[in-house]
Amino acid sequence: MDELETLASLLAVSNCVVVLTGAGISTPSGIPDFRGPQGLWRRVDPEKFTIEHFFADPDEVWSLFVNHFVVGNAEPNSAHMALATLEEWGKICGIITQNVDGLHQRAGSKRVVELHGSLKYAVCTSCGSKYPLADVLKEYRGVAPRCKICGGLLKPDVVFFGEPLPRDAWEEAVSLAQVSDLFLAVGTSLAVAPANRLPYIAKSSGAKLAIINEEPTELDHIADVVIRGKVEAVLPRLVQLTTYYLKGPSRGDRPL
Ligand code: NAD
Repeated sequence: MDELETLASLLAVSNCVVVLTGAGISTPSGIPDFRGPQGLWRRVDPEKFTIEHFFADPDEVWSLFVNHFVVGNAEPNSAHMALATLEEWGKICGIITQNVDGLHQRAGSKRVVELHGSLKYAVCTSCGSKYPLADVLKEYRGVAPRCKICGGLLKPDVVFFGEPLPRDAWEEAVSLAQVSDLFLAVGTSLAVAPANRLPYIAKSSGAKLAIINEEPTELDHIADVVIRGKVEAVLPRLVQLTTYYLKGPSRGDRPL
C-alpha cells in the first residue's frame, strides 16, 4: 500500500477530519506562497510585513500589499473543491486556514476558521471600524487609506508578523484539533507559529497526523503519513480512492 492509499483508508474510517491549509493550496489558483520556490519572499523582504514596519511606513506597506497580496480574480482550484466534497460527505468537520484569500468558502466549504484574517476587509487601527477592502481599493491612490469616521489609519484585516491571532479563531482551531481523529496539513511549510502547534495538539489528543506538501515540512518527522506532491493532483485522487475504501474493496473497481 502506498502513502496515498494509506491516507485514503485512514480517511474512510475517520469521523472528524480537521484540515490545516496554507498558501500552497492556493498556488494552483495563481496566488504565490511565501516560502516555496516561486514564493513571495524571493521578491519582497518579509520584514516589511511586521506590524512595527506597517506603522513606521504605512504608505510603503499598502503599496506592497496592493501589488503583491490582492488576489484579483483568483478562483478555487481542484484541491479546494476536493476538501469541500469531503466536508459534504461528513468527513471533514472543519478547515483551519492560514490563508486570507477566501477560496475555501468560494469552493463551498462551510466551517472555515481563518487564523490570519481575510482580504475581505480593511480595519481602522484607531476605532476598529471595518470597510470592505474592495471599496477601499477603488479609492486607493498610492497613499495609506484613512478611516472615514475617525481619520485613523486603515490596515488590511490580515495578521501582520508580530500581531496576535484573532482570539476566537485560535480558540476554535484548538478545539477542532482536540476533537479530530485525523489531522491533515495541506500546502503549508508548517514554519509559522502558532499555527504549527496545532498538529502537536491534535496528536497529543489522539489524532493521526498526515501531511501533503510539495516540499519537506518542519513536522514531517512526527507525521503518520507524508505525501510529497502537488495538492491539486493529490487531493482529487484522495477523494477518488476514499470512495473506493468507503464502498469496500468488494463493491466497485479500484480506481487506477
Ligand atoms: P508557506 O509559503 O510557508 O508554505 C507553503 C508551502 O506550500 C511550501 O512548503 C510549498 O512547498 C508548498 N506548496 C506550494 N505550492 C504547492 C502545491 N501546488 N502543492 C503542494 N505544495 C505546495 O505558507 P504557509 O505555510 O501558509 O505560511 C505562511 C503564511 O503565508 C501564512 O501566514 C499565510 O497567511 C500566508 N499566505 C497566504 C496566502 C493566501 O492567502 N493564498 C498567500 C501567501 C501567503
